[in-house]
Order: sequence, then structure tokens, then C-alpha cells
Amino acid sequence: MAQRETSAVRSEDEPLLSVQNLQTAFFTDKEVIRAVDGVNFDIRRGETVGIVGESGSGKSVTARSIMGLVDSPGRVLEGSRIKFRGEDLTQKTEKEYRNLRGSDIAMVFQDPLTSLNPVYTVGNQIKEALRLHQNLHGAEATEEAINLLEAVGIPDASRRVKEYPHEFSGGMRQRAVIAMALACDPELLICDEPTTALDVTIQAQILELLQELQEERGLAIMFITHDMGVIAEVSDRVNVMYAGEIVESAPVEELFGNPRHPYTQGLLRSIPGNQPDADRLQTIEGDVPTPNEPAGYCRFEPRCPKAFEDCTRVHPASVAVDSDSQDHTAACLLYPEDESQREAVELHEQRESQREVSER
Ligand code: SF4
Repeated sequence: MAQRETSAVRSEDEPLLSVQNLQTAFFTDKEVIRAVDGVNFDIRRGETVGIVGESGSGKSVTARSIMGLVDSPGRVLEGSRIKFRGEDLTQKTEKEYRNLRGSDIAMVFQDPLTSLNPVYTVGNQIKEALRLHQNLHGAEATEEAINLLEAVGIPDASRRVKEYPHEFSGGMRQRAVIAMALACDPELLICDEPTTALDVTIQAQILELLQELQEERGLAIMFITHDMGVIAEVSDRVNVMYAGEIVESAPVEELFGNPRHPYTQGLLRSIPGNQPDADRLQTIEGDVPTPNEPAGYCRFEPRCPKAFEDCTRVHPASVAVDSDSQDHTAACLLYPEDESQREAVELHEQRESQREVSER
């Protein structure tokens, strides 16, 4: 989406958000589920970064970890870094986190009804956000709430501001939730499957709205979805997640034009219409495994058509796919492509032992 030119111009800026070695685990009586396991990515101002993967890949837990919303028995593990404007959020107290949430960072969830309270009017809920985050009250807050509803494309906003969530359609509710998020004047908007519950026409309108708002306000957006079509439309850069890890990362045109990780290749083959010569839609057999132990191997190996012996004993590090493509990385032993397979495997072994040493 997003101001591709602007993003390019700003690409040398410091990232607004820098996630480094993020690990979030859930501790149950039976096992430890490593829902997010060593995730790294940056988001710059005015940029949309997509996170895509099947359900269970760790996308939403990544978002909740950034927002400080991981519920017990889960927690972000030591050694994780979530730097926002250079400050490490993992060091914040709950109160500091609360202040940040909804002001500098806001989140839009899949189901707008989880964000809207059915017993208050939409206007009152937006005004509450304006009171908390912009210290606006009374007529001034009402006027701004109407402005925000207009900004998100709700017609007849001065009447609708007095209505309750159940009087809004699904698409209008999601617009109202976006208006609430904007009431906090955030720098970063995290959208977790914001269009999944909507029909295709409304979905397109919401995506367009987010694009317009981003251009007007210079927002950074982290956009989570399982839908490769949506991710192609909205993102400047795409991170593909699998079983708690980012397995491929590249600018959007590069990722779709030249996918390298066997998982990304499988995801793209499974989009209807993407393989016009194929008799049947191709799928990736099997399910995403639950990551319940540190990976000393490739978690995609049981489903990978290109797996070879080393894949069961070496955990792939994230490396440049070849020496000319430093901005395109894949966590797969087949890369870097311009090295022999033996050299590539050795490189991954070295990277993994360096990582283990640094985590000790
Ligand atoms: S490391 Fe091996 S199993 Fe994993 S994606 Fe690459 S080729 Fe497939």
C-alpha cells in the first residue's frame, strides 16, 4: 500500500519499531509452546509491513507481544527486544505500557465487536479515547468524533455518532474501530486480520481507507493476514511466518515475483488462479506443527518437497538468498543460492552456534 516512494525515501531512517529476537512462550502443565521463536523485523514510518502465514504460525501472538497484551500462561521471554522509537518496550511497567497502548500504538482486531462496547454509543466510545489520549472534552470532543467518523468514510456522521454498535453494519463497525484507533493519534497501527470477517467489496473499501489514512497521516502499519492476495495489495515489505519463525522476508514485488522459501512457494501455488495450467488447486499437505521445543532442525521439513537429510538436524538461520539480494532473506538450508549446498549448510550451522552463544 503505502506511499511506496515515500517509504523508499525514508528507508534510511531509523526504524520506528524494531523487533529483535522476539520469543513468546506459553507455559502449560504439559508443555512449553514457543508460539513466537526468535522473530526479527523492522517497521519504518509511513511503511506497511505485512506478516502472513497460516493460522498457528504466530502472527497474532507477535502483535500481542508488541502491544504488551500476552495473557498468562504466556509471556515474552528474556532476551527479546521490542524497540519503539529506540525505547525497549520489554522494560516498561504495565502502567507505562497502558499509556503507550492506544496512544502511540493502536490495534485494530478482526472482529470489531471485540473492540466496541455494545452499551455505549459509538460516539461516546470515540470521545472516551479522545479524552484519554488528547484531553478533549464536551463539544470539542463531539466535533472531533464526528470529524473522525467522516475521515473513515461514515456518511451522515453527526447522526451516526449517537448510534450504538448494533445499528452499524459489519463494515461500518470496522470503520468505527479504525476511527477509535485514530482518536489516539497513533504512529503505529497494528491491524490483525482487520478484513477477514468482511465480504470482499467491504474488504476492498477498508484496505483503501487504510491506505488513504496512511498517506494523510504518515502512519506505520503492521498488517497481519493469512491472505496472500491481501498482503500483496497492502504491503511494502512482507514477512512470511511459519511455526513461530519468520521464514522469508523481502520487499513485496520481490517476494511475489521471486519467492525462494519452499513454504512461500507453496503458499503462492495455493492461491486460486495463480497456476492457470494446473488441473487442481495445489495445497501444502499437513498442518503447521505446534512449536513445543527449541528447533534444532527445520520446522517445515515434514511438509517440504525440497527437504534433504541435513534439514532434520540443522536449524536454518535467516540468510540473504544470494550475495546480490541482501534485502531478501530466507530461513532455509538451500540458501545462499550462490554457495554449494555443503557451504550453505555450514554457514547455517555457524550462524546457529553464534546465536546459541549470544543467548547464553
Ligand atoms: S531447510 Fe530443508 S526442509 Fe526446510 S525449507 Fe529448506 S529445503 Fe525445505
